[in-house]
Amino acid sequence: MAMIRILQYPDPRLKTKAEKVEVFDDALQKIIDDMFETHYNTDNCAALAATQLDFENPKAITVIDFSKEKNQPLCLVNPEVVWRSEELYDEAEGCMSVPGGIYETVGRALKVKVKAQDRYGKPIELEAEGYMAKCLQHEIDHLNGKIFIDHLSRLKRQRVDKKLDKYRRWSRD
Ligand code: ZN
Repeated sequence: MAMIRILQYPDPRLKTKAEKVEVFDDALQKIIDDMFETHYNTDNCAALAATQLDFENPKAITVIDFSKEKNQPLCLVNPEVVWRSEELYDEAEGCMSVPGGIYETVGRALKVKVKAQDRYGKPIELEAEGYMAKCLQHEIDHLNGKIFIDHLSRLKRQRVDKKLDKYRRWSRD
């Protein structure tokens, strides 16, 4: 297994849309293992999407585990949100690809239904609420080339971009 580099904003590759997985072969299993390896070796990591990693043609895969013991791995292939509640979940979120301790609330649905496949291609449907629902929306956004700060109002986004500029200058010195 190998660690994969996590792309950092404003890397334009974070806008890449993931390729749909059609073939569930050994090469795919290797990619998923590497994603979990990267996840479990990164501090404070709840989930990763293939499009935020240094893959040449990232596929529609996300790996999720926010258990304390890191023993509840969930891999979703080709996930999509098929239903979302109108009720919102107002808790700030961050991202492994957005440095500088940026946490913002971006109006996620409180509950979602997601259709996906497991790592062997078996169809899965899951319902989630709260933190898990937020996490799924965040990761599926990644696979569509979107990061959480893309949801901010223009004013808030300018504030965040300023903070990130400052952070980049500071980390270069
Ligand atoms: Zn993220």
